[in-house]
Amino acid sequence: LIVLDGRPIAKRIRSDVKLAAEKFRHDGIIPTLAVVVPTNDGMADAYVRAIVKGAMACAVEARIIKLPQPSTTELIAKEINKLAEDDSVHGIILQTPLPEGTKIDDLAMLIPPAKDVDGVSPTSAGQTLFGQQAFAPATAEAVLAILEEYKIPLEGKHAVIVGRSRVVGKPVAHLLIEKHATVTISHSRTKDIRHFTKQAEVLVVAVGSPGLIKSKDISPDVVVIDVGINVTDSGELVGDVSPDVASVAAALTPVPGGVGPVTTAIILQHTITAVGLHLIR
Ligand code: NAP
Repeated sequence: LIVLDGRPIAKRIRSDVKLAAEKFRHDGIIPTLAVVVPTNDGMADAYVRAIVKGAMACAVEARIIKLPQPSTTELIAKEINKLAEDDSVHGIILQTPLPEGTKIDDLAMLIPPAKDVDGVSPTSAGQTLFGQQAFAPATAEAVLAILEEYKIPLEGKHAVIVGRSRVVGKPVAHLLIEKHATVTISHSRTKDIRHFTKQAEVLVVAVGSPGLIKSKDISPDVVVIDVGINVTDSGELVGDVSPDVASVAAALTPVPGGVGPVTTAIILQHTITAVGLHLIR
């Protein structure tokens, strides 16, 4: 089994980010990523801490804006609009989960595409789909970065994705098509998921259900990317893929240490790109 370790990839991205960030700082520009946190949520807080730690390590400033509870669409919108106007802010992330009663569709569109470092706005999604310059969701890019790093052939391969969310399943499908894979997307309404996962040469699982995919669901030699992050009752971090998959698959991302660290590094990389976009505006 090849362990598709994301940490060395993340480390390399961060060291490139640091070089670029220090150059900008030398010119008086502090690359700044703002993270709007609208709820109290343990998983979200852990993710935000990881972003702050990563940012600090590579000279990017992370500005965390924790909104008063309970937050509302109006409060979140006001904060995003303020950050959109703020020339000292280069990247904006709206951390999920959102408070009850608020909708991502009312908020994501407020993030200007040039600051949308996690590719959540409809404009970013549309431009990405049309092959135009835009930020794709960082997690989707992280999946592709891992496949590229480990030189996993994609052209003509059958890639099966489990999960069709806007931030993972759908953009991963698009990026894999761009790499000339043949893509099947499955989801909660798919009849007999296993029928598809068995055919996968590359399997990307992004559901949020621990142990969903087991060794009996896959064929030998499949490359498995486990995007899922779940916390067990004992507080352990696990993916969507059961550990017995390791005995059948050719390659597998660990959780933690696979897609997660690459995702946070790509957010920082996008922030540096956003500084460049800001300068040419
Ligand atoms: P999400 O928005 O909840 O989407 C989950 C998807 O899984 C949906 O498309 C859903 O189908 C599908 N699904 C649910 N139950 C299923 C089942 N039994 N069989 C097949 N498909 C099923 O979640 P997400 O934001 O994409 O995140 C997915 C996982 O990835 C979570 O564990 C999350 O924590 C993790 N994640 C990790 C990173 C990272 O950096 N590593 C980043 C983002 C997310 P329907 O559409 O039919 O409901």
